[in-house]
Amino acid sequence: MTSEKVLKEVFGYESFRHRQKDTINSVLQGNDTFVLMPTGGGKSLCYQIPALMLEGLTIVISPLIALMKDQVDALKLSGVAAAYLNSTQDHHEQAYIMDMLKLNEVKLLYVAPERILGKESNFVDFLKTLDISLIAIDEAHCISHWGHDFRPEYLMLSELAKVLKKKVPTIALTATADKITQKDIVDKLKLENPQVFISSFNRPNIQYHVTPKRNSFDQLLDFLHHNKDESGIVYTLTRKSTEKIANQLTEEGFNAKPYHAGLDTAVKTKHQEAFLKDEVKIIVATIAFGMGIDKSNVRYVVHMDLPKNIESYYQETGRAGRDGLPSQALLFFSFGDVFKLKGFVEIEDNQKQSAIMLQKLDQMAKYAQLKTCRRKYLLNYFGEEFAIHCGACDNCLNTFETIDGTEIAQKALSAVTRLEERFGVNYIIDFLRGSKSEKIWDRHKNLKTYGVGAEISKEDWRHYINELIGLDYLIRDNGQYPVLKLGKKSWDVLNKGEKVSVNQPITQRYET
Ligand code: ADP
Ligand code: ZN
Repeated sequence: MTSEKVLKEVFGYESFRHRQKDTINSVLQGNDTFVLMPTGGGKSLCYQIPALMLEGLTIVISPLIALMKDQVDALKLSGVAAAYLNSTQDHHEQAYIMDMLKLNEVKLLYVAPERILGKESNFVDFLKTLDISLIAIDEAHCISHWGHDFRPEYLMLSELAKVLKKKVPTIALTATADKITQKDIVDKLKLENPQVFISSFNRPNIQYHVTPKRNSFDQLLDFLHHNKDESGIVYTLTRKSTEKIANQLTEEGFNAKPYHAGLDTAVKTKHQEAFLKDEVKIIVATIAFGMGIDKSNVRYVVHMDLPKNIESYYQETGRAGRDGLPSQALLFFSFGDVFKLKGFVEIEDNQKQSAIMLQKLDQMAKYAQLKTCRRKYLLNYFGEEFAIHCGACDNCLNTFETIDGTEIAQKALSAVTRLEERFGVNYIIDFLRGSKSEKIWDRHKNLKTYGVGAEISKEDWRHYINELIGLDYLIRDNGQYPVLKLGKKSWDVLNKGEKVSVNQPITQRYET
């Protein structure tokens, strides 16, 4: 049977998507395989179809115990011999599944990574007695410290493929891994010459907008009045605020319900179902909402607060527009959020992990302050190249014009160098503009660069410096004091005369 035939006859789909077919072929040829594909892209078929075509059993490792039953039930409905083992089952149920496994009656077995852990290592001994032909590791980013959702129990998986009766290929899948994490997954799982399949992360139908957060509830109302009768998700940081905002929206005549991990299961299910059936239009939720939700007509995702990292932001905004129709992602940003979140992202007694999480927060804050294409930044984050103007983010829509910013960049970068990378944006701008203020050190007033940017307004300098930060020519250092430093690429501008293009809003022409 060919993979196309399985796709059609078992799953009822006409054709493969993204790189599913190549991925399946790679697995069938016995290669270790790494798949990076956005949520909803169709990762599951990449191991489910091989599982049905190979002799023996496929083990699927997944941390999402809550979703296992649904996944397995759906497979059973398609006539696939699937089963799961996890802590929600009683002893009898587990014993029954193990009997079925011994009888080779199961093709796909879903297990939580905890199963593989030391104290239950007799489970690994049990696996050794079975005829296993493939190991699929879902949510593979959980094995990496560099990912945003590290789970120590995943580390136990690195040896699994090697200890079985015969050498078994591994397929690792994730929807969320930046460049370092991708490499780390391959290393940690000890994948051998892995075939790597990366699908585009671009979601062309989602428009990205960031607005300075002022009076955020009024700003939200304003947005919702423009999107009346559409379905959407509003994410907030705290459980309390989900309830408060949902209540306020209800008072304003919107059809909104809260969702967070602290609500009774029955209430959560009720709100979720009502949202799926379009009986409730707006879900106001913490990040607890959305996992495994497949609602196609979500027209907008609003973030009232800054997400902790780009991975989460991308996942959450990605719940909009699954049907391919135009959708909005709106983020309200304030610097206060960055400080507030610092406490949240730090991981107790784990300095190394905290540092990584702080860096991820920083990259998120940088996204919010971008003056350049937001889509480009998101895609680059996941290791994908993209042209500078997407035409569908606020920055691109503000119709920037690109100007030759080489001279501007040279002035700014040499000021940063002359000031020994020890000063913040305001000081550098005052210095460039030749401010007579006493704040500028006398010693600095004698430097050659002092005043070379006098013809450019303060506001424009601020824009250009942000632009240079967005383009990685300058780096905002988040040490004790926020200072500007040179990026790696800066030397080419200063020493080799590399050309720099910067964007400038068209309107600026009329203002000056
Ligand atoms: P992921 O795990 O990547 O988030 P899933 O494997 O859950 O995505 O697939 C998302 C949805 O797309 C599911 O409803 C799935 O049945 C469907 N799907 C997957 N591949 C195809 C395909 N080739 N054609 C049509 N639908 C598909
Ligand atoms: Zn853009």
